[in-house]
Amino acid sequence: MKLADLIIDLQYRGLRVNAPFERRPGGAGPSDAGMIWIEGTAVTVPVDAGFVAGSPYTLEPEDAGFGIYADGVRLAAAAPADRPRFYDLTTADGVPYWQLALMHLDSLASTVLQTCAYWGNDDQCRFCGIGVSLASGNTVTVKRPAQLAEVAAAAKELDGAVDITLTTGSTYGPDKGALYAARCGQAMKEASGLPVEVQFEPPDDLAVIDKVADRGIDSVGIHVETFDPAVLEWVAPPKHRTGIERYFEAWEHAVGRFGEGQVSTYVILGMGEDPDLIVEGCWRAVDIGVYPFIVPLRPVPGSLMADVLPPAPDYVDRVARQVAPYLVERGLTADRVTAGCARCQACSPVGAMERELQAPADRNLIPVRALG
Ligand code: SF4
Repeated sequence: MKLADLIIDLQYRGLRVNAPFERRPGGAGPSDAGMIWIEGTAVTVPVDAGFVAGSPYTLEPEDAGFGIYADGVRLAAAAPADRPRFYDLTTADGVPYWQLALMHLDSLASTVLQTCAYWGNDDQCRFCGIGVSLASGNTVTVKRPAQLAEVAAAAKELDGAVDITLTTGSTYGPDKGALYAARCGQAMKEASGLPVEVQFEPPDDLAVIDKVADRGIDSVGIHVETFDPAVLEWVAPPKHRTGIERYFEAWEHAVGRFGEGQVSTYVILGMGEDPDLIVEGCWRAVDIGVYPFIVPLRPVPGSLMADVLPPAPDYVDRVARQVAPYLVERGLTADRVTAGCARCQACSPVGAMERELQAPADRNLIPVRALG
């Protein structure tokens, strides 16, 4: 079995956990995610959703380490992410570090503004869970640059964070929150030396993207989520009003400042889209230097899509395998991304596919041995 195939199936069926495990419940980003290294590759998998009870995959403790098993057969070595040591610290002004930023495997991540102009009204993105975390009391509404700078330095020193991923809810302002996120990123980078990705919606004035670059930010995520306009209208009305063409304009401008591969977009599979539109859109994005970060829908408990199931593995495989070779051919692979989700790849099978395509054929199999 190839690693990418196992990742796709795990992200569809989930992983039953029979071992101590650090969970990351609720919220935006890789919610309801177990964070785990599989054969040294970072992967996020559903562990708490209802459908996981039917998964054949289990995480089992072994004499030294852990393994992923299916029906009694050991499929791969696994290492769950440890609880980060910086979670035990508190800022000078009394806020626990874990309420300000979380470790996503080796990436430090934070939602700097935990509110969104669209949350709770007709414009709310159906896949999003930004308000769920806020309601849980596990995070603070506004994270300040000085607080985040403290956390970044500690996450690098104590837990080996290699980059920083910052997102924000959209604001009513014309910059959509990009400038505040960039300020936070600048403070964190100055304190830690880590590269930073900042994620935001296309600003009304593209000069905002220049201001983000001027703060030393390394990579940006400007997420269209889908290239099927009918689906976009249903899942994210404000993004549909912005229009897919405006995303291409923003991306083109951003590539001019950040460079090829340092601009990315989420592309979520499993929302009822026409796969041909997805593949065409991804190829067009790649052609202008934008990395399409393909992920299967991860239904967020508490979101408007909480009851939707992740897309079938063969569908994810079919779409992703039309895009991964194109990325490799154009030299726009994840290992060239400096910071953020597209660098990390834990929520996507595409990074593993890229490595398959770049490595000799016999290096792509993961070890399988019988249990006991
Ligand atoms: S713009 Fe959409 S995805 Fe982003 S935080 Fe707001 S509701 Fe969530």
